[in-house]
Amino acid sequence: MKEDKEIIEFLKSFQKELSGFFGINVELPMVSFINSRKEIDKIWGRKTEEWFVAWAKDNNIFILNPKIYTKESSHKNIEHFWKVLKHEYSHLYYKEITNNGRPKWLNEGLACYLANQVKEKPTKKESLKIFEYYQKGDWLVYRVGYFWVKLLIDKFGKKKLLKLLKKMNSQTAEKEFAKIFYRVYGFKFSEEEFNKIFEV
Ligand SMILES: [Zn+2]
Repeated sequence: MKEDKEIIEFLKSFQKELSGFFGINVELPMVSFINSRKEIDKIWGRKTEEWFVAWAKDNNIFILNPKIYTKESSHKNIEHFWKVLKHEYSHLYYKEITNNGRPKWLNEGLACYLANQVKEKPTKKESLKIFEYYQKGDWLVYRVGYFWVKLLIDKFGKKKLLKLLKKMNSQTAEKEFAKIFYRVYGFKFSEEEFNKIFEV
């Protein structure tokens, strides 16, 4: 199938970018197409949101079939499909390097950043929801995560962010994360500190 080859080539070229960023290599994932919204709902056992189109698990990416992608989702441009593939592959790297899918804002924000899924700037109040997004997330987590990840990278560099990720492991819970953050960045993972750096 022409499509499969196209996807493999696409992921291969993005693999180079990701390996450059993370300094590790994660093998190419298997991509499985989901053929309808109904099928997604069945797998998740609930009615899923129109924007929800893909997820990554182990070394697999499950994604709505490009043939019905714009019909079965709220995304009306097929470009979105390719960015989501990048986004999901980034999650596999994140998992590999942290052994953890948390904090949710960092995992989602970095995936959006690496896939070039530029998000609208949140309001200050919205941005401070970062402290609620360790375990949970909602539609706003992408915007909040993207904002802080981009700011941390622009202001302090990629190396520092990578250092933070490398210090995490499967046992890292919220409190421990705050400690690691402080050790790496030299300021507290707190509302007060994040308030200060919001505008810059
Ligand atoms: Zn994601």
